[in-house]
Amino acid sequence: MSVDVGAVVAARRDAFRAGTTRPLRWRREQLLNLQRMLEEQSERWARALHADLGKSETEAHITEIGFCVGEIRHILKHLDDWVEPERVKVPVSQKPGRAEIVNEPLGVVLIVSPWNYPLHLLVAPLAAALAAGNAVVCKPSELAPATSAELASLLPQYLDTEAVAVVEGGPEVATALLDERVDHVFFTGSTAIGRKVMAAAARHLTPVTLELGGKSPAIVDRSARLDVTAKRIVLGRFMNAGQTCVAPDHVLVDEEVESELCERMVAAVHDFFGDDPAASADLGRIVNDRHVARLQGLLDGGGYEEVLVGGDVDAASRYVAPTILRGVRPDAPVMGEEIFGPILPVLGVPSLDDAIDAVNAGEKPLALYVFAEDDDAVEAVLERTSSGGVCVNHTLLQLGVPDLPFGGVGESGTGAYHGRAGFDALSHRKSVFRKSTRPDPSIVYPPYGRWKSKV
Ligand code: NAD
Repeated sequence: MSVDVGAVVAARRDAFRAGTTRPLRWRREQLLNLQRMLEEQSERWARALHADLGKSETEAHITEIGFCVGEIRHILKHLDDWVEPERVKVPVSQKPGRAEIVNEPLGVVLIVSPWNYPLHLLVAPLAAALAAGNAVVCKPSELAPATSAELASLLPQYLDTEAVAVVEGGPEVATALLDERVDHVFFTGSTAIGRKVMAAAARHLTPVTLELGGKSPAIVDRSARLDVTAKRIVLGRFMNAGQTCVAPDHVLVDEEVESELCERMVAAVHDFFGDDPAASADLGRIVNDRHVARLQGLLDGGGYEEVLVGGDVDAASRYVAPTILRGVRPDAPVMGEEIFGPILPVLGVPSLDDAIDAVNAGEKPLALYVFAEDDDAVEAVLERTSSGGVCVNHTLLQLGVPDLPFGGVGESGTGAYHGRAGFDALSHRKSVFRKSTRPDPSIVYPPYGRWKSKV
């Protein structure tokens, strides 16, 4: 390994200890520079994202560049309030005195990010870390090399390099960074690697935020508006060629409306991507050959009755057609792991209760989608299932509300960020109690026995 990761972390710690990152002025300046970096270099970002994932310019602007700009603006608007100490009540027995919670930065935050939204998933946690006054070491994903190279080149041009560093590399670099002692690890990626990250962080008792994955279901009730439902599920599933952590992974649909939903979803695929989706500028490509082979394996593994649309794979161009499978058995390979590609299994269920049972039989997902016009159906799903977040009657949009914490639960993650939640995640809420030196009653000091006879 060519980089001395120990030295990189030590230099950020020196900057933190010198107090560089604490002033509100510094935090604001860094956030504005980060925003400027996104806006001034938007063409370079779009080119890199296209090179890595065949991402369309529109998708790059909405889901990566624009998303981060929106997040930074929101932080800048509220940061003055967030940093204010929070006064709390003092009980009579403790008066006179003043009690408050002070948000202090943690120190050095290590951010390890994945390849699927390689700009967004590094810059959004970085913005939260800077807002909270931390020094930061960023490790982008090696599987999105063009974006990783741009991050390594552009972040140092816009941010204070004493406090913020980018280290490129793969698992060995990430492992070496985790061997160093940092004050918080912010990891986004797979559940399997999340487990390793948590174990590595435990050696230093370093707290972690783990933004992981899983199989996020879309439940379609018989009361759903099927025309809208079909379009919104297809949009969420096939955006970024299905490589979205909160994408609907599979559909659990009431058998009564299954056929109509399937027809409408197939129509939506045609409407969105044309008769030859390989020629569509709006369909991304699979990140690498290994993932193409994995997706091909899921299709070859069977366990379903019909391919309603798609099914073809061109390994040379890393193209997997938007694919909808019907009659999928719960034990099909495609149901055995997070799909993370443009394949959508549809499972018919006799009732809403069965859909809820199917969700509860698996690990708690990162996202859950429920499509219904019947409010009781929505409430039943909300009350009887657990997931990182829920979006009712749409997909993905829960991420666009900056005041909603974004994170998983159970196997889909630990901790959350976006907006205030990100600031809180990367701050320590320090309790401060200020006492006056007057009065100073001697009753509180030993020896206590001397008061006994008088009490
Ligand atoms: P990944 O877990 O393979 O890699 C993520 C990062 O971890 C990369 O930077 C990688 O270099 C690093 N890494 C690899 N081996 C490591 C090790 N042994 N120790 C420490 N770090 C290591 O994930 P991926 O394939 O890049 O991303 C896909 C996964 O991420 C999916 O499961 C998806 O659901 C999940 N994801 C979750 C979110 C979220 O916000 N919750 C967002 C995007 C993706």
